[in-house]
Amino acid sequence: MKRIVATITIIFAACACDAPSRAALDGREGAAHPAIPAETRPADARPSNPASPATGGIPSESGPSTGDGTFTPPALTLRVLRVTSRAGGGDAILIADSAADPPRHVLIDAGDDGAAARALRALGVRSLDLLVLTHAHHDHYGGMDEVLDAVPVRAFAFGGQVRTAATYARLLARIEREVPTVLVVDSIRRIRLGPGDDATTLTLLPPLPDHLAEDTDNGERLNDGSLAVRIERAGFSFLTTGDAERAANARFASAFAPFVDVDVFKVGHHGSTDATQPEWLDAVTPEVAIVSANGTTHPHARVLQLLEARGIPTYCTPQHGTVTIRVARDGRYTVHPEEGQDTRCLPGRSR
Ligand SMILES: [Zn+2]
Repeated sequence: MKRIVATITIIFAACACDAPSRAALDGREGAAHPAIPAETRPADARPSNPASPATGGIPSESGPSTGDGTFTPPALTLRVLRVTSRAGGGDAILIADSAADPPRHVLIDAGDDGAAARALRALGVRSLDLLVLTHAHHDHYGGMDEVLDAVPVRAFAFGGQVRTAATYARLLARIEREVPTVLVVDSIRRIRLGPGDDATTLTLLPPLPDHLAEDTDNGERLNDGSLAVRIERAGFSFLTTGDAERAANARFASAFAPFVDVDVFKVGHHGSTDATQPEWLDAVTPEVAIVSANGTTHPHARVLQLLEARGIPTYCTPQHGTVTIRVARDGRYTVHPEEGQDTRCLPGRSR
């Protein structure tokens, strides 16, 4: 499998931000974006109160009305999907920006159990504007074939990691054939999902370069080659760092400090101790933490204790199912676990 040469386009809308100007078009600009019906699910947009979750998730969602019988739909919805990974771990985060016209959909990682493709179908998502792979582990890319089967994908972004694993090589070859635009995130990239200063913006933070060529099936060092994604709208911000561990965290915190300080943090590496240190939480300062894990090996008890000691409300997909964050136009947000509202996160068996 040849390495895909770095290509980038300004995918959605002109972004008057600080992305490097060395972006180059490869002449494979995506086709015109097909019309996508707006998500019509009702939702509340109350002031931020992450400690008071309401019901929500997939497939059914409901939220209280505004009091006059009408619903206020969220401008931005993030879903940390419950993934039951055979390989351990598992990540898939679905982003729906219904304020954009047409609405935009982004998927960050795809787990490996079909949950991502099922969520796309359940929510009526007809195409993905962007598919992001944080790093080359099966519990993050294993579900991408099913995603590609389910919907057309306009653009794909990854860090450029190389592996000999046959499933990974086949996936990249398929993406190269089927996805119009491929972006290798080798420097900071900012993508605006719609026009206007208040549009949702994705910031892709590049991975540690030393961890991109771990060409073994063991792939232990791939975690620190994870790229990170910050999502922001108005005053709201969210961060996922894939399976980044200590070295990558330290680099993110030093090189990209303004981008890692967020409201809601998808905890790194499924709640492993190698990915969450006190100094890292000092940089991220989350109001809410979400752990995506298989529940058998992860998360680690010490990480849950660390979050609890800081008073950070924490949701874990094994106990809370898909965790949905609804963000209003003004950046106020609410957090909705699919189940287990009265349940605490429980540690897995590994240490
Ligand atoms: Zn993982």
